[in-house]
Amino acid sequence: MSSVDMDTIVSLCKRRGFIFQSSEIYGGAGGCWDYGPLGVELKRNVKEAWWKAMVHDRDDVVGIDAAILMNPQVWVASGHVQQFSDPLVDCKACKNRFRADHVKGNKCPDCGGELTEPRMFNLMFKTFMGPVENDAAVVYLRPETAQGIFVNFQNVMSTTRRKLPLGIAQVGKSFRNEITTGNFIFRSREFEQMEMEYFVKPGTDEHWFQHWLEQRFNWYVNLGIRKENLRLRQHEKEELAHYAKGCYDVEYLFPMGWSELEGIANRADYDLTQHAKYSGKDLSVFEEETKERFVPYVIEPSAGVDRSVLAFLLDSYHEEMVEKEKRVVLRLHPALAPIKVAVLPLSRNEKLVPMATEVHASIRGCFVTQYDDSQSIGRRYRRQDEIGTPFCVTIDFQSLEDKQVTIRDRDSLQQIRVPIETLKTTLAAKLAGEAFDVLPPGGSVVTGAKN
Ligand SMILES: [Zn+2]
Repeated sequence: MSSVDMDTIVSLCKRRGFIFQSSEIYGGAGGCWDYGPLGVELKRNVKEAWWKAMVHDRDDVVGIDAAILMNPQVWVASGHVQQFSDPLVDCKACKNRFRADHVKGNKCPDCGGELTEPRMFNLMFKTFMGPVENDAAVVYLRPETAQGIFVNFQNVMSTTRRKLPLGIAQVGKSFRNEITTGNFIFRSREFEQMEMEYFVKPGTDEHWFQHWLEQRFNWYVNLGIRKENLRLRQHEKEELAHYAKGCYDVEYLFPMGWSELEGIANRADYDLTQHAKYSGKDLSVFEEETKERFVPYVIEPSAGVDRSVLAFLLDSYHEEMVEKEKRVVLRLHPALAPIKVAVLPLSRNEKLVPMATEVHASIRGCFVTQYDDSQSIGRRYRRQDEIGTPFCVTIDFQSLEDKQVTIRDRDSLQQIRVPIETLKTTLAAKLAGEAFDVLPPGGSVVTGAKN
């Protein structure tokens, strides 16, 4: 399991400005969270890592960004208006409301009062489009990004002149009026998804399903999540949607137990068939080589951004003893770390500051950096460790003489000294994964350095 409990991560997130409760000064908004200065960087990095792996690194996937508000018929066709509901029971005494599958028997868990029969409650947020608030003006905040992809399938096929297999990826906000939220950002009412619909010729779907199971599992591993904290769980027959041919969850061992990070489903031709039926548009494709016409099958890897952020935070959190003091360190993958390089003059000495400012200016266009000259160097190292900054660059009095600076490695605590003119390329190489003790010309290993 991740070595840390949820309270520790919640408190770190608040203390260091990763994540705050929404509208906190008004007492919060149920199940909504705000990302602070470091959290927004981490979250953007997670989304960018996904986009790179899913879109930019592949020839067979393109992206879109669809509107959150859609024609309400979309949600009739997708089944959300009819079926996207939870059974709820009300307590006749205290009026509290519970999910029927979360209570045993017909007694209220809060007061012991009698419960009503279950009633279905739709999880979509409703609002009105236009100036009139009547039934004809009802629209929904999308409960998933996937439908924006299905309704654009033909647009993307015809404008990109692609052949199958073709994936369409999208990252964006979704909304679900969950009855019970909780476990920090794991289940919230406003959240962000990274979804991709991969359209294939029927008959090749099993092959591509396996392909995406492997790709998606490895994405988390490659970004530093320990393999023993991840698993692929196959859905039981009764968990499967009636149309789905198969579904797996990528699960992470959260403090509350194994829980879903991402679902990967073989949805067959259900979605395009439904939209063809309700829109009256032909959504089949014609394959030149075989002169066949068919409705593509679709493989859908659907991941939660916020859940991924939480898993990356939990898995990277470590406490250890360094120089007889507790050190908290986030061993985040460099691609995910909010700040890549911190620039730290040894002190606010008037001779050091101009040089430190100059060093900072020379690298900040290449990396996300932070300049910090307050308090002792030890305290500043700890602050950077706690937010996962991979490298600290220190400018000391010797730097004025030899035009060299020290780079400190977050994970090994090793330090090397390098000429300032090699700093940019050295940092770029280390951030790309080069071993820390590989030295640039003129560089040296520092021994016995304070950490
Ligand atoms: Zn009650």
